[in-house]
Amino acid sequence: MSIPCRILVVDDEVGIREGCRRVLVPQGFDVDVAENGPMGLRQLREARYDVLLLDIMMPGMSGIEVLRQARQMDPDLICIIITGYATVELAVQAIREGAHDFIAKPFSADQLLQVVHRELERRALRREAERLRALEEEARELARAKAELQKLEAVEGRFMLTLVHILRAPVAVLQNTLQWIRKGYIPPEEQPEVLARAEARAGELLATLDDLLLLAHLKEGIGLSRVEVISLEEILEGVLAALRPRAERQGVALEVDVQDSPRVRANPDHIRALLIHLIDNAIRYTPSGGRVTVSLAVDRERGLAVGAVSDTGIGIPADEIPRIFEEFYRTEEGKRLQETGTGLGLPIVRQVVEMYGGTIEVESEVGRGSTFRFTLPLG
Ligand code: ADP
Repeated sequence: MSIPCRILVVDDEVGIREGCRRVLVPQGFDVDVAENGPMGLRQLREARYDVLLLDIMMPGMSGIEVLRQARQMDPDLICIIITGYATVELAVQAIREGAHDFIAKPFSADQLLQVVHRELERRALRREAERLRALEEEARELARAKAELQKLEAVEGRFMLTLVHILRAPVAVLQNTLQWIRKGYIPPEEQPEVLARAEARAGELLATLDDLLLLAHLKEGIGLSRVEVISLEEILEGVLAALRPRAERQGVALEVDVQDSPRVRANPDHIRALLIHLIDNAIRYTPSGGRVTVSLAVDRERGLAVGAVSDTGIGIPADEIPRIFEEFYRTEEGKRLQETGTGLGLPIVRQVVEMYGGTIEVESEVGRGSTFRFTLPLG
């Protein structure tokens, strides 16, 4: 045996205690003895043992009680019961209580060594099996993490590609415009119109970059330090003032219905972004002659501010509804009606409501219109 094993013999018979010591010490075991249960338990508390040789039938504290306490102290301890012919039943009970084996008195030196070696080997095998199980679990965990990483890398790769594609187009337009003007391809009288178009593309580019920045900040939880109690109605007024000209240009009526003026605890920039994207979408995806209705109310029972943006626009196919909250996703019908768009608005909306513990739901019918309903906890 390479590592010295420590054995404690607890038996009231001195002959057994000393007999065990005589057999085990020459085999390289460290052996201690105790003559009753309480003394044995004290020794178990003071030092770590590998094997407990325990007489089941002792005056005073019963062997079964010693066994119970010893197993509780060290579940890894090998417990071998020493039993007389008349106490075999007790030994069986001891096995049920967690003893590993028993040896009947009188026993030979060989029998004692056999049972001790066998139990030590079993314990070594148990430990090896546990180590292998842990290794297997670790390997499974690593494989899971690797698969997750590969998935993330693929998503990140797609994200970058889409991003480059989206950002490259307006920059190319700007470069062409500047080149054409510098090379004199555009007559002076046409230049204001061409420059106005280029300016619009630069504006879109900037808006896309701002959306990307906001989305990145929301994902990182940046901006939460500027949280305050705000009136949704006040923010809505500012948003409507900015979007009304667009609705008028497009021939879309804009109606508002605010009840109880809900207040929420949030960063005003986040709530502005939420409302702008929902209302801007409703206007952009509603053909001329349509109507957009924005409503705000309070659900006191649930402690929520509830908002809805409804339109009579193109609608969203049912199978695409879960996808419109993905970054860059745009429906075919949406792309046909609005050439420009980044697919970042609704991901921002979702991040905002999730960040503040709210919800967002969509109801839509193709060709009839859509309603986006959101909730935010009242401030
Ligand atoms: P963007 O409007 O820039 O394309 P969004 O993330 O705001 O990006 O919207 C994603 C897509 O969801 C849009 O391209 C459009 O296809 C669809 N969508 C969003 N809002 C509406 C709406 N009110 N009516 C119809 N389709 C909508």
